[in-house]
Amino acid sequence: MLSRRKLVKRLASLPLIGGFVGSGIPIQSVAAATPAAKPAQNLFKELGIRPLINARGTMTFLSGSLMEPEVMAAINATAHDFANMHELTDKVGERIAEMLQCEAAMVTSGAACALTIGTAAAITGMDMDKIKQIPNLPGPKPEVIIQKKHRYVFDQAVRTAGVKLIEVENAKEMEAAFNERTVMTLFFNGAVDWYGIEDSINHEDFVAISKRHNIPSFIDAAADVPPVENLFKYQKMGFDLVTFSGGKMIRGPQSAGLLFGRKDLIEAAKLNFSPHESPIGRSMKVNKEEIFGMYAALKLYLEKDHKKEWQEWEGRVADITKTVETVPGVKGEMHMPKGRANVFPGLLVKWDQNKVKIKPKDVVEALRAGEPRIETSAGDDALRITVVTLLPDQVPIVARRIKEVLQAAV
Ligand SMILES: *Cc1c(COP(=O)(O)O)cnc(C)c1O
Repeated sequence: MLSRRKLVKRLASLPLIGGFVGSGIPIQSVAAATPAAKPAQNLFKELGIRPLINARGTMTFLSGSLMEPEVMAAINATAHDFANMHELTDKVGERIAEMLQCEAAMVTSGAACALTIGTAAAITGMDMDKIKQIPNLPGPKPEVIIQKKHRYVFDQAVRTAGVKLIEVENAKEMEAAFNERTVMTLFFNGAVDWYGIEDSINHEDFVAISKRHNIPSFIDAAADVPPVENLFKYQKMGFDLVTFSGGKMIRGPQSAGLLFGRKDLIEAAKLNFSPHESPIGRSMKVNKEEIFGMYAALKLYLEKDHKKEWQEWEGRVADITKTVETVPGVKGEMHMPKGRANVFPGLLVKWDQNKVKIKPKDVVEALRAGEPRIETSAGDDALRITVVTLLPDQVPIVARRIKEVLQAAV
């Protein structure tokens, strides 16, 4: 017989059970439905993967963002029952649409998937023959109109559906670009940040011109919260389809995303998606747990105290600045992007390279090679620190490690 103390200790070492206790879900119901959880295993260690502190951003190659305990609880709590995926897709979609004040919504496998199946929806509507044939419809390719300055790596996800992109440079050219092959217009909301340019056609004109030609407009706003208001802004402006990544600042599952907007298009997107067996989106499946997880993450994000979170980030920038500035010649500077993507406070660390004899790029390397491994980025004259992806207890660690590396180069 185990003593009570030993039993409690043993239970505490099970991360799964610990998670449920922490989230207020009774152990009983979980334990009854699932096989006993195995003891904690460090799979990072088992596979020889060095964990990292992410001071770089919500990038996919760094695994995006970390899910909150409530999201993990939603994933765990829904894992032990089967669901009809059509029903789940519809019900979660309805709730998300209510939350985002739009006609309809669905969970996709990331914003990239949303771009593909949203485009597919614009091409096929509810036509099952076309759904079976894309991306290889007979005849000339369907066309999507995009501003030339908005061309970007993710437009591949739109072209995946089998369309040709038609580039336009101003409103007049856009007006003239519509023809019987046009199926959609695409607006890349982050272009301003990525390229440091202005849009050559603004949101309002872009929507108005698309509407005049009765063609659906799609906006990619994948990385564009905060501010939280952006989750409501673009459907109100009149865009017919909107996508956001689930696994960036919304902190849902990294492989989830949101597609929302006009009901007929979302219904058509669903036909182009899993759980249907043959359409283009079948290879972009989202599992049941991630759909629940995405829903839980969005709910949590909308309810969050955004002002408090913002102040917390500013506090982090100030704290790290204070530590690194103890090295003579080093200055910390709050950085705020001016555009619409990834808008949150970050830190630029700059120094007199005659006094502190190390290049920012070499600091990045040193932080990566050190223990713990820290991922940052750099320009020629500054080390860039993203604070929003840090866990609270990682903030002083990052500050101390930057200080150590800079100090060693004095
Ligand atoms: C991140 C990003 C994507 C891809 O989003 P995923 O959710 O990772 O699929 C698409 N477009 C833009 C502008 C992005 O920033």
